[in-house]
Amino acid sequence: MLNNRKHFICLRIIVVCVIVSIYFNLSAAGIIYDGELKPFRVALVIGDQWDDPASYLINLPEPTGKYSGYDARPDVQGASDFHDLAVLLKSWAIPFDIIRLDQQLLDRYIFLDMHDNPVYGTIIWDVNESKNLMPSDISVITEMVTEYGTGLIAIADRITQPSIQRLLGVKYIGGWESNDPFSLTMNHFIISGLKKTFTIEPGPENHAKRQQVEVLDALTIVRQGEYPQVTVREFPSGGRSVWIGNDHNNLFTSQELRTILCRSITWTIGYNLFRTWENEIVMIMDDPGGAQNAWLKHWHYAPLSEQDIEKYLIAPLQKHKAVLNINFVPAFVNDEKKRLEPTWNQKFTDEFGLEHDNISSKRGYDKGIRLGVFEVMAHGLTHIQPDLVSDPTWYGSELEKERSEVGWYREFGDTRRGGEIPAAEQLWRMKTGMAWIKEQFGVTPLQFCAGGLGTSVSYFNNTAKLAGQAGYGWCGWETGYLGKDVVITGWKFFGTRESPLFVAALPDAHDYGLTREPEKFASIFKDYPGKRFIGINEFIGYLHAENSAKWEADGKRLTIMTEYDPHYCMDFAGNPTHWNLEISDWLLAEKGGKYSVKADGGKAEIRNSMITIPEGTGKHSITIDFTGL
Ligand SMILES: [Zn+2]
Repeated sequence: MLNNRKHFICLRIIVVCVIVSIYFNLSAAGIIYDGELKPFRVALVIGDQWDDPASYLINLPEPTGKYSGYDARPDVQGASDFHDLAVLLKSWAIPFDIIRLDQQLLDRYIFLDMHDNPVYGTIIWDVNESKNLMPSDISVITEMVTEYGTGLIAIADRITQPSIQRLLGVKYIGGWESNDPFSLTMNHFIISGLKKTFTIEPGPENHAKRQQVEVLDALTIVRQGEYPQVTVREFPSGGRSVWIGNDHNNLFTSQELRTILCRSITWTIGYNLFRTWENEIVMIMDDPGGAQNAWLKHWHYAPLSEQDIEKYLIAPLQKHKAVLNINFVPAFVNDEKKRLEPTWNQKFTDEFGLEHDNISSKRGYDKGIRLGVFEVMAHGLTHIQPDLVSDPTWYGSELEKERSEVGWYREFGDTRRGGEIPAAEQLWRMKTGMAWIKEQFGVTPLQFCAGGLGTSVSYFNNTAKLAGQAGYGWCGWETGYLGKDVVITGWKFFGTRESPLFVAALPDAHDYGLTREPEKFASIFKDYPGKRFIGINEFIGYLHAENSAKWEADGKRLTIMTEYDPHYCMDFAGNPTHWNLEISDWLLAEKGGKYSVKADGGKAEIRNSMITIPEGTGKHSITIDFTGL
């Protein structure tokens, strides 16, 4: 009896072992993996376009110093394709990693996990020709597309590698100038609903290069003049490739080509979750608490009173359900004591004879914050030079002498002495500014704006880079994204579907203007009828969302996960989030044409292609069920 049982248990173990080993053998051979069920992550593969060897700071490219031939001056800008792509992917909050072939080998395990499952749903190929690249085995890309079903989207003239051309089904000829308009040639998911003809934004005077290819085994869906400029191709593996042509410096100035890129991501992966900003405005006002209003003769005024703030700011903002984003200064330089003090406890008469009642101002600002019409942002710590002692010395100086030099009233670049502010000093001011604002207003600011735009620009002292390290999520006003992963300056596409429009609070972007012409503030709502004036933390939250997805093994259910960091995504603690959910035609057809959607397990509706996720930071899920139940 005992022996029989032992035998039975042994037999069961053997059976389980055999099944497990068959599963892993099949899996390793790529048979179980279904090339149509793709992960939600993009690999952005570049050449040597990233000028930060430490892979953190993404700046606008420097001018090359070369002549284009049109101008007597050197007028050739650096290649902006990588910068554009980084801004666009961040804007849409599509998860991506950057693979730089000047520092990395093209290893297949960049694209596969250790069980040989693809890590990326699609690869954006933006590899320039350069002698600075590591030796690349591009057959890895061929393997991913033709065997694992990974998508490939190639940009402009970054297709000089023969195996990339083979994957696209085109032969590259070269690029020559053309300002011909683009036209759609057929119906295709990638271009559905777009304008039938369009041009790139620099207009008819631009010198953009149109690429010429011979189409061998691809469909042309967009032409520029007679020349194919967007082509697509499908593989039995489930892999799909797209080439988007035109000039690598100019193509993304076109809304249509930006949309074509976003759609190409959807088409190659099969689905997409992204954010757009067609109707949103971020309105900003600087300076409450700034040092110069008490000392600088030409920028001299008493702060707004509680009553003024209520009447001229809070009331119109409430009426238009709008938010004003305010850059506050939390520390005040007490000249007599030669030390910092909290700004918002101050009540004094300045040397010009003006009464400064910051306590009254603070009551007004607090009220707007409580009502949700003001968003608190950081304008540094003091809005004045860190070193007020060294020559030519600000402390104790005369109103009509050193006091009246505007260079004193900047904090992150030494605009008085013509230098930079060291990194550690800046970092301390950024972190202390954040802490003092939190203490005084009860809110952690996520946007950092250097006073008077005085900044340091060398790599180690770079003000935007340091603000990213200090934990801010956006660099003001329009500088760009700050994160632990990367910092992107020179942000673009404001006022398009890719990014909200940023506008200055009337009349002059500062509380100074409001002290003179307060009634002008509300007229901004006439200039932008129907727009939604949002708090900047809403925008910052989306930029910092960490999204991913997984398929159930039977391929019937797809779960997209969003993860909202409680710091960067603090706006979502009390507000629902809204995302564009796009499912490609081929995926829908393959899954039977129908699906239902749940958000956090509850019923969810899709309105104008947007899905709403309930409020709360942390993890959320969108489940797309193709079973037809
Ligand atoms: Zn300022």
